[in-house]
Amino acid sequence: MTDYGEHTRAAHPPLPATPRQRPIGLPVYRSAVFGFDTAQEYADVLGDRTPGYVYSRIDNPTVDAFAAAVAALEGRAVDGEVVGQAFASGMAAISTVLLTFLEAGAHVVASRELYGGTYSLLERVLPRYGVSTTFVDVADLDAVRAAVTPATRVVWAETMANPTLTVADLPSLAAIAHDAGALLGVDSTFASPAVCRPLEHGVDIVVHSATKYIGGHSDATGGVAVGAPAMLAKVRELRIDLGGSMAPDEAFLMHRGLATLPLRVTRSSQTSLAVAAALEGHPALDRVHHPGLTSHRDHGLATKLFDPGRFGGIVTVDVRGGREAGLAFCNRLRLAENATSLAGTHTVVSHVASTTHRQLDDAALAAGGLTGGSVRIAIGLEDAEDLIADITQALGTTSS
Ligand SMILES: *Cc1c(COP(=O)(O)O)cnc(C)c1O
Repeated sequence: MTDYGEHTRAAHPPLPATPRQRPIGLPVYRSAVFGFDTAQEYADVLGDRTPGYVYSRIDNPTVDAFAAAVAALEGRAVDGEVVGQAFASGMAAISTVLLTFLEAGAHVVASRELYGGTYSLLERVLPRYGVSTTFVDVADLDAVRAAVTPATRVVWAETMANPTLTVADLPSLAAIAHDAGALLGVDSTFASPAVCRPLEHGVDIVVHSATKYIGGHSDATGGVAVGAPAMLAKVRELRIDLGGSMAPDEAFLMHRGLATLPLRVTRSSQTSLAVAAALEGHPALDRVHHPGLTSHRDHGLATKLFDPGRFGGIVTVDVRGGREAGLAFCNRLRLAENATSLAGTHTVVSHVASTTHRQLDDAALAAGGLTGGSVRIAIGLEDAEDLIADITQALGTTSS
């Protein structure tokens, strides 16, 4: 380098050699571009003939490590290899997976209880490309069977739906999808692999908004899809073309979040069940929804499909008195914060009728088992007694 000028030296600083010792933490390969010793090697890696890295929208070692870590959790007890692909957001994962397996003329059977972004994609965006969707109550297996047509390519559900916590009967849905020659895709964000691993129950492809339980700290946005290698190879191809790839810094945070996923999910599951049990029967509430309560319609299914004692960290309460009562309850909370998302360290609440389900009127809310007073409480890592005290004071001291 001694003969080079200032600008050349500045642009080509020496880089560290790859150390012989293995790093225990995950290195962040914050490089968009990778260099090769020969032009031939460059061409071979780009052409997928030799494994390696060319460009970080295509593949990145830190991002691959994160996707592989999720696949290892989801595939723990699955026969056959399970691999993953990571995305810039949960919606990037969902849209890329759906587009991978759909074409003009194709049909989708989807749960009518869907994350708003997924609903919008199926209801408003995909029809422009000739894809139609029938929305059904996935608890009604006859309705699911009746909705399937010869054009059905994908059946889509959520392991646990927002905010009623309806549990999808994954083995039965898989049987219906497979009989029809379709695949079953499941958004398992609310469960996380620490509660349920849908691939063990016949599901073909699982997606997560990693922004929630997997990241776990409300500081990174991401998504991930896992399944068999042949299926995920197709998903990777479209990810590369659509470009919704995860960034290496986000992958580092998500990977770090995974290390404590079982600890965080076990804790928030225990806390949410304690909160739900303490609130059930409260005179200011019409109903408490939590799959760990025996009063929940899907408690039996949850017991069958979920890990023992882990029903997830969400409790939905129907505050008596409609929209105003629900909003007033949210405003009186001191510890739990009014905020979207879930599964961070803090407990957050969403008044369902004015936030996640704002397009629905009271009749539509009632059809979905909710009320104007429904509030989703996403339990964080605080002490159960503090949360119960906060929620109870916000419900009003007169009634308890
Ligand atoms: C948040 C969420 C999504 C979307 O994920 P983003 O990371 O915000 O794109 C999808 N499905 C469910 C169930 C979610 O909670």
